[in-house]
Amino acid sequence: MVERIGIVGAGFSGAVIARALAEAGQPVTVVDARPHVAGNCHTARDPDTDVMVHTYGPHIFHTDDDAVWSYVNRFSRFMPYKNRVKTTVLDSVFSLPINLHTINQFYGKTMRPDEARAFVATQAHDIPDPANFEDQALAFVGPDLYQAFFKGYTQKQWGCDPRALPASILKRLPLRFNYDDNYFFHRHQGMPVEGYTALVDRILDHPGITLHLNTPFDPATAGDWDHVFWSGPLDGFFGYAHGRLGYRTLDFDRFTYEGDYQGCAVMNYGSVDVPYTRITEHKHFAPWEDHTGSVLYREVPRACTPGDIPYYPIRLVDEKAMLATYVAAAETVQNVTFVGRLGTYRYLDMDVTIREALDCADAFLAARLTDRPAPTFGNAPL
Ligand SMILES: Cc1cc2nc3c(=O)[nH]c(=O)nc-3n(C[C@H](O)[C@H](O)[C@H](O)COP(=O)(O)OP(=O)(O)OC[C@H]3O[C@@H](n4cnc5c(N)ncnc54)[C@H](O)[C@@H]3O)c2cc1C
Repeated sequence: MVERIGIVGAGFSGAVIARALAEAGQPVTVVDARPHVAGNCHTARDPDTDVMVHTYGPHIFHTDDDAVWSYVNRFSRFMPYKNRVKTTVLDSVFSLPINLHTINQFYGKTMRPDEARAFVATQAHDIPDPANFEDQALAFVGPDLYQAFFKGYTQKQWGCDPRALPASILKRLPLRFNYDDNYFFHRHQGMPVEGYTALVDRILDHPGITLHLNTPFDPATAGDWDHVFWSGPLDGFFGYAHGRLGYRTLDFDRFTYEGDYQGCAVMNYGSVDVPYTRITEHKHFAPWEDHTGSVLYREVPRACTPGDIPYYPIRLVDEKAMLATYVAAAETVQNVTFVGRLGTYRYLDMDVTIREALDCADAFLAARLTDRPAPTFGNAPL
């Protein structure tokens, strides 16, 4: 039976679910409060320089999931792209992630991999059971590398002392003992040649999909639909009745430059004396294009207040307790599935978002065939 299905949000979560349902013969209506599709991955050409700007911060596609890689390549040609990040700290420029070049430059040495590994082990503190992020970093890399490359950046990013953050943020030794400066390990990496918005436009281009932009969805109207997929904020669906889940937001201080401002796409600034965490130069995310002008963002993280765009879920002890309350509330709603980074209150890369959206659509269609309840969440938030 064809049902009335509403999908809230035209980011990757909403668009991928919409396409899967439409291809299965189920028409859907997608609404987004914004004037464009692609959610936070939205890209648009700057009218003055023609540079493709990543409006809500830079996005690099990377994945080990072959099916997701084939999926996105159905809708856009991808250009090869490797993310090579630099950091300015202590009046020098270093290569990230911390690799043999960084270590040798930092200590003024010419160590080979085994020598560097042994040397770093002599710097590391003996902390058998690290209680927080700082202890974990000291146990991995010792005080010098921690102070230079982790402490200030982490403090700015999360707005708190690194000792207030869990050790689990640093899961494994964050160093490479070779000269590989490719930020991501994934086998597939690239950039959609005409940006993410063109890609998502093509995902949504199906006769079974009706799209309404500039259309905020009021959760009170969810009952008008047979089913709703909600990729907005989980707490927002319930009118923040149990409080606001904590997020960090970002201010983008945009500026332009005639020429090449920094010679790379991403330059981090590790010191707390510099208010921003990084400067991104958007034309370098499309190295196959040629532009004389340049568009840049200085990125300043801060606490997210009502009206700001929520970027990074904080997910510390207090937030998880509040999250449990919202998860319980969501489980009482029969006809809504909460999906995506906001609907499940998790940081999700694009490839994971797409994988979860594909799986969620499959689970929904299978549930309908067998008369079982639709899933409450695309993926469990806790
Ligand atoms: C700064 C930053 C950089 C990132 N960089 C990368 C990267 O390099 N690589 C990578 O793989 N991932 C990256 N990500 C992650 C990426 O942004 C997410 O994977 C992706 O945005 C998740 O898509 P989504 O559809 O779940 O959410 P969103 O993109 O946030 O889409 C949700 C949509 O729902 C709409 N909406 C919400 N509420 C309502 C309502 N009530 N009515 C109507 N519409 C509503 C919003 O307007 C929005 O368009 C980055 C994230 C951040 C914060």
